[in-house]
Amino acid sequence: MSSLGVLCFNHCSPVNIFCFEMPDNCPLCGTLLDVSPCQSPPFRIPSPFANGITKPYSVVVKPTEGTFLQHYERNSNLHVGITSSKGAVYNYDEYGLHKVKDKHSWKQSVIIPLLDNRYDDELMELWDECLQNYAVTNEWDPDKYNEETHNCYDFVIGFLNNVQYNELIGKDPPYLTRKQFCTEFIIPHTTKAARYIDLYRKVQQETFLVKEESYC
Ligand SMILES: [Zn+2]
Repeated sequence: MSSLGVLCFNHCSPVNIFCFEMPDNCPLCGTLLDVSPCQSPPFRIPSPFANGITKPYSVVVKPTEGTFLQHYERNSNLHVGITSSKGAVYNYDEYGLHKVKDKHSWKQSVIIPLLDNRYDDELMELWDECLQNYAVTNEWDPDKYNEETHNCYDFVIGFLNNVQYNELIGKDPPYLTRKQFCTEFIIPHTTKAARYIDLYRKVQQETFLVKEESYC
């Protein structure tokens, strides 16, 4: 696995070459790249993943089992959490409520930012207090957990409704539903991530992937 992500460059033709590390020779024409420079300089395709603990005021998403790059398939179950102003990931599962600060658990997350200064400075200031108060109620005890009706999604959606998130950002209806949360928050981000995962895995299989069309 490459931790740096996918590189893209063109050499002797407009065709894009994707790889993890720059080769010595062009995979298309065989010329030494030191001798004959690329038509366009190599760049790294931005990864759709980040460590959840580095992203405050966000919904964070990861596969319930394994990681996006190695294990995710389109029908995989996802686990979601919400971050404090300092990046602690609050999340709920069959073992109850967790407040996660370690570097590894949410290392490869899709990040959905929720707040910035445009909306509400006041909520930013109150965020941690609201989150902590919301999380400590017995609603999130392990014995209340239900895979279908009271899970990690309910925890996150419940919090967003608790702080009247939809109203704050001027969305309709004022009360966020599970369907709206999935179609407007989760799916656009996981669809983008899935495109990157496809490309990443193809490069992993073939070392050099040659494609007419660009990634973006
Ligand atoms: Zn070439």
